[in-house]
Amino acid sequence: LQLSLAIIKPHAVKNPVALSYIRNVIKNSFIVVKTRRICLEKETAEDFYKEHIQKFFFNRLITFMTSGSIDLHIISHTNAVKLWRKMLGPTKVYKAQFEEPNCLRGMFGISDTRNVAHGSDSVTSAEREIKFFFPEFSFY
Ligand code: ATP
Repeated sequence: LQLSLAIIKPHAVKNPVALSYIRNVIKNSFIVVKTRRICLEKETAEDFYKEHIQKFFFNRLITFMTSGSIDLHIISHTNAVKLWRKMLGPTKVYKAQFEEPNCLRGMFGISDTRNVAHGSDSVTSAEREIKFFFPEFSFY
């Protein structure tokens, strides 16, 4: 089975309707291996998103991701990486709402930054991201 990391972003954690919908979707489609709720420190958020440091939205992204609790879920499925990203839908909110209104970002996305949740973009990133947030996690 493949692993992926789902991160439910602060605005979705604060919205009870969105949060229970997203949790149900996850529970119904994946084996949830581990779950943890944390509050990101600024330095940790900057480290996690360091590949975006040059982007115009970097400060906005860090401010948002440190604005409240986030839920981390290690999820498992034969096709976990692609399936979770498909369920999320496009990063850009207008694209999600107009082109894939039934995806999670189409349903609960508020802006290109507040786009509901994160999903690892490859098996390699999933492993790196899981190690980042769950250093004690054993892959074997
Ligand atoms: P994620 O990595 O969170 O699953 P993604 O792979 O769809 O998202 P990335 O391009 O890696 O998107 O961007 C990381 C995060 O930065 C996005 O999830 C979003 O919160 C924010 N972001 C991306 N593009 C923009 C943008 N144009 N304007 C504002 N925020 C953005």
